[in-house]
Amino acid sequence: MSTSGPDASAPFVTRFAPSPTGLLHVGHAYAALFAERAARAGGGHLILRIEDIDAGRCRPQFEEAIYQDLAWLGLAWEEPVRRQSDHMDDYAGALARLDGLGLLYPCFCTRREVAAEIARAGHAPHGPDGPLYPGTCRGLSPETRATKKAAGTPSALRLDTKRAAEVAGPLEWHDGAAGTAAAEPNLFGDVVLARKDTPTSYHLAVTLDDHLQGITLVTRGEDLFAATHLHRLLQALLGLDVPLYHHHPMLADEAGRRLAKRHRSLTIQALRDAGKSPAEVRQMAGFE
Ligand code: GLU
Repeated sequence: MSTSGPDASAPFVTRFAPSPTGLLHVGHAYAALFAERAARAGGGHLILRIEDIDAGRCRPQFEEAIYQDLAWLGLAWEEPVRRQSDHMDDYAGALARLDGLGLLYPCFCTRREVAAEIARAGHAPHGPDGPLYPGTCRGLSPETRATKKAAGTPSALRLDTKRAAEVAGPLEWHDGAAGTAAAEPNLFGDVVLARKDTPTSYHLAVTLDDHLQGITLVTRGEDLFAATHLHRLLQALLGLDVPLYHHHPMLADEAGRRLAKRHRSLTIQALRDAGKSPAEVRQMAGFE
């Protein structure tokens, strides 16, 4: 379990941004402690953000458990806590700005239609989240869009990523572990920025919130490294501040599998119930 972290030479504002879709486990403890240490090392502070835009999967009791578990671990964070579901207007404003730049289009495809289109094409470029959207709705005429809307066909909003990358020009971002990277936003293709069921997306909400909350160092797991290429593009399009990043390794179990919800015995609550002390759990996460 690695504990190597950023070299904080300035007071960083960092954040821990869990989604209340389950109980926190040792891997979350590691991420939270990593963010806290990066902030405290330079005299900065830690912010806690509840990423609860996915109403179907988030539960109030998991949010409550986040506060309890983090406090039990000995973490302190700045108040107030930002809960994303309370800020849909901010995300709508960012979408309006992107729309004003002519970089969004409505997508009426169902998952099944996207899969069928990819199968029909015989091959599809793959991104970090699977096959890329084949662009079916990108070229729809204004009349077709209006007809589908009038018929009540649900639509998402996608970013015309290639065009957006052209508008933004070459971009870079810096990771404390990996160094400077040239942004490759096209990795994700025309990503959804507003879902059919929720008028925002992870990518939009997290990027805007990091700016609005004055985060200067984003620490998070390596699983989100690729997402930062896209976040960098959104920052450029929306005129947002660009934080430093530090993507850290993900904790794994003894078989080398990334910790997940199936590891019930490694939730902070289960460990506490089994008699572990906060210091012991911090140690399990690789922190003294
Ligand atoms: N809410 C995300 C998660 O729980 C983390 C997002 C981020 O750190 O950018 O995985």
